[in-house]
This record gives sequence, structure tokens and C-alpha cells, in this order.
Amino acid sequence: MSHSVFKNAKGQHVDSYYAATVGEVADYPRLQADIEAEVCIIGGGFAGISAAIELAEQGHDVVLLEGVRVGWAASGRNGGQIIGGWRDSYDDLEAKFGYDTAKTFADMSNEGKQIIYDRAEKYKINADIKKGYLLAAMCKSHVNYMHDYIAEAEKWGGAEHYRLISQQDVKNYIDSNSYIGALDNQSNGHLHPLKLAVGEAKAAADLGVRIYEHSPVLDVQGGDEPVVTTAHGKVKAKQVIMTANCYLGKAAPKLEKKIMPAGTYVIATEPLAAERVAKLIPQGQAVCDMRHILDYYRITADNRLLFGGKTIYSGKDPKDIGKSMFKDMLKVFPQLADVKIDFAWGGHIDLSVNRMPHMGRYADNVYFVQGFSGFGVVATHIAGRVLAEKVMGNTQRYDIWNQIKHHTFPGGTLLRKPGYLLGSSFFYLRDMIDTMKG
Ligand SMILES: Cc1cc2nc3c(=O)[nH]c(=O)nc-3n(C[C@H](O)[C@H](O)[C@H](O)COP(=O)(O)OP(=O)(O)OC[C@H]3O[C@@H](n4cnc5c(N)ncnc54)[C@H](O)[C@@H]3O)c2cc1C
Repeated sequence: MSHSVFKNAKGQHVDSYYAATVGEVADYPRLQADIEAEVCIIGGGFAGISAAIELAEQGHDVVLLEGVRVGWAASGRNGGQIIGGWRDSYDDLEAKFGYDTAKTFADMSNEGKQIIYDRAEKYKINADIKKGYLLAAMCKSHVNYMHDYIAEAEKWGGAEHYRLISQQDVKNYIDSNSYIGALDNQSNGHLHPLKLAVGEAKAAADLGVRIYEHSPVLDVQGGDEPVVTTAHGKVKAKQVIMTANCYLGKAAPKLEKKIMPAGTYVIATEPLAAERVAKLIPQGQAVCDMRHILDYYRITADNRLLFGGKTIYSGKDPKDIGKSMFKDMLKVFPQLADVKIDFAWGGHIDLSVNRMPHMGRYADNVYFVQGFSGFGVVATHIAGRVLAEKVMGNTQRYDIWNQIKHHTFPGGTLLRKPGYLLGSSFFYLRDMIDTMKG
């Protein structure tokens, strides 16, 4: 992606429900000098801020460079769903890499969630956190997968949080005819992601992290003393961590080929009457269906339905995001036809070929993580911790993560889009066939 995204942003968060309700947000200066730091982090999303807190808590000297505002990209725009697990099942990871790797990933997923819950408490961040999550089945193959998930949790841990909801019962949890069952997971949940991002950034700044906003990085040179260049200043560091989603572009060309940006979109309704909310999702869980191109939604702290979905690879947003998402919402909840949409926005996810997050070394003393593939609220938090461990000299979990091989997108940055357009039509068709089969 080109650096024009930063210019187009005009230095502000996108107009969203989150930006409108985030409350007080600290402003951080632009980098305007050549400075030094022990560790320089690129990217003020969850992954970068998480690494910064971990390092600063251990007394390290950290500079964090953000191209626009803290939480400007995916971390401040997402569906807010706190979801554990990884794209590869633990059994698959065990078959490929052995028991220890699979167990480490199972433990890291739980730890990622716990980092969010603990940090919010420790640093008094009110991010509207609510526990509870429903994975909703739309056809028989989804129900079969739910049984597989339970079997997996019985083997790898976490089964105590699961409860299967039958076809007869599911309407008591989600007032929609779209589903034939659900899996309740009480260890997952949902939150206001921009409140969490700015709250965590403030915690990092209070710990001594020097945060610079409006400072897009143009170049990164590895070496004994890596140098990170912005338009108005440079950072000379001992180590660099890159956590910039799909926006690094020419600043790190080798990384661009390993991910594919895709658009996903969210609307927020006007606040709904309490009785209406109590009928829609009585227990207030976050909901995600099980299709490849899925709907994800939840009730916010002020009683709006926040409804997300679509995955668009063409780089072109829907002409009218609000209208298009409203149509999708009515397929699930036709009873909301009279409801007004107050906010509509979108953001980019960074898909990796195998949909596992990609962590590794870019150059001497320069490390990165990217490719959260649309499921990054939890994974970024643990990834930030693991990268912090790496730069502090504890490489154990980094080495385990680094074993996962990541391929380049076929066709490189030029042809990956046509290839993936075909791919998305395939997933769309598969979803349709699965749901038609019932
Ligand atoms: C609409 C949407 C809905 C989603 N819903 C969910 C969900 O419900 N649950 C879930 O688990 N995941 C969800 N995701 C995915 C999740 O939000 C991301 O995986 C996660 O936030 C990624 O965090 P990050 O820190 O890696 O990247 P980001 O949050 O994208 O942060 C990267 C930061 O780096 C900065 N940056 C980039 N390039 C440069 C540069 N050259 N110089 C300086 N700064 C730079 C950017 O400005 C940005 O602030 C969603 C994503 C989107 C877009």
C-alpha cells in the first residue's frame, strides 16, 4: 500500500462509532529530530503498543512511531471481538511441528486474552469489556465443526468455557432465523477497541515510552545500529520491531509480498430501546457466524447493534458502506428495518497465505509481525509480548512462532489481487453451497 493512505487520513481517526465515543485522547507529537532509543517500534496498533508496554515495564527505553494516530488502523476500527484460537488447529500444529509447539500456541491464545483483561484492570482502562461469545452455525457442516472444536478444547484446554446451544434453543440467544445452533464460549468476549488502544498507549507513555504520531516511516535499515527514517527525523536504535499491518509499502518491500490487504466493513445503529436489545441478544454476547466470508456483530455499551462483515479484495470499498451493510444486517435481523444507521466505516485486514500471523526477522536487529488475517485483537497482544521477549534476549516463543513457514502470494504484489478475487468467489460459492445444503 502506498504512503498516500497517510496523507488521505489527514491526521485523524476515521469517522466511526469508536472515534465518536472514545472520550479523551492524548495527542502525541510528530518526530522532528534525530534521536536514539534502545528499541524503536513502528506502528501504534495493538501489536506495537503491546510490545512497547512489555518492554517499558521491564525498564527499557522505547520509541514508538505511528504514521497517523494511535489506533488509527485496524486496532481502532475492528468489530471488537475478543476471539481465541488460530487458523491452524492444535492437532494440525502438532502433526506439523510436534506437541510442544501446538501446546505453546494453545497457551499463547489464552495468555493473549488474559493480557487484555489484566492490562485493562492494571492500567484502569475502561474499554467496555464484556465476556461471552457465540459462534453461530448456519448449516450442518458448521455444527460438525463445533463438535470438533469441543473435542479439540477437551484435548488442549478450555473446554470448561464451552457450551453447545441446540437448534431448539438458539433463538433464545440470537433472535434470528439464520442459525441452527451455536457454541457459547465464556472466555471470549468483546470490547471498544479504540478505548483499549488509546488506553494502552497512555499506559505505555506513562511508563516512559516516547510516542510520536503523524510520523510515517519511509525507510528501515538493519545493522548493528538500525536506523528508521521519517520525513522529519530519524531514530537510531539497537533493535527495531515492525508492527504496521499492510501499510509499510516500500519501507519494507519484502514483507508486502507475504500479505494481501482486504477490506472489511462495520455499521453501528442508533441506540436501541433496552427491551429491543434484551430480545435481540439477551445475554449480550459477541456473535460471529462460521462462513468463510462472515458476519460479526455485538451490542455496544450504549445499546447499538454494531454489525460487521464482507471481505473485499479488489481495493474498492462498496459505493455506500452504510446501505450495503444495512442490507446484510437485515438478512440476519429483518425486524430492524426501521432502525437508523448512525455510523459506517471500513478497514484493512492483512491476510497471510496460510492465515496464521507471520513473525520473523527482517534484517539484522529488525523483527516484525503481520498477517493477523482478520483475527488480531487477541493475537496481537500476545505477539507484542513475544517480540518484546525476543528483543530482551528470550527467544524461546519467538523461535516456536518463527517455525511456521509463510509463502509469498502467487503473482507477487501485482497479480495477487486477480488471484485472490478468484479465491474470494470460490469462498463465496462454498458458503452458499454449504448453507443451501442446510
Ligand atoms: C473492520 C475490521 C474488523 C475487525 N474485526 C476484528 C474482530 O472483531 N476481532 C479480531 O480479533 N480482529 C478483528 N480485526 C482484525 C484486527 O483488528 C487486527 O488484526 C489487529 O488490530 C491488527 O493490529 P496491528 O497492531 O497488527 O495493526 P494495526 O492496528 O493496523 O496497526 C498498525 C499501525 O501501524 C501504523 N503504520 C503503518 N505503516 C506505518 C509506517 N510506515 N510508519 C508509521 N506507522 C505506520 C498504522 O497507521 C497503524 O496505526 C478486524 C479488522 C478490521 C479492519
